[in-house]
Amino acid sequence: MPKFVALEKTEMCHFLDDYGSCPYGERCQYAHKESELRSVSRHPKYKTQVCRQFKLNGICMYGRRCQFIHEEANNKPQNNNKNYNNSKN
Ligand SMILES: [Zn+2]
Ligand SMILES: [Zn+2]
Repeated sequence: MPKFVALEKTEMCHFLDDYGSCPYGERCQYAHKESELRSVSRHPKYKTQVCRQFKLNGICMYGRRCQFIHEEANNKPQNNNKNYNNSKN
């Protein structure tokens, strides 16, 4: 049975980041290249939640690669569309 497959290669390896090499090598559950990172399926919760960091600070260190939503809260789900067309007055 596969274990922790969902977590595999969804993040860049922090060993490579910090030390320039990884003790786990090919067995590492983290991605060692950006190409590896992109070839895997997205995180189950990818872009389903608003990024806290972006919401609080208006900026996020992960940028486009962030797994959370970075959009401003312009389109609130509960907004009525009625006012939308009247904005041209
Ligand atoms: Zn690694
Ligand atoms: Zn973010």
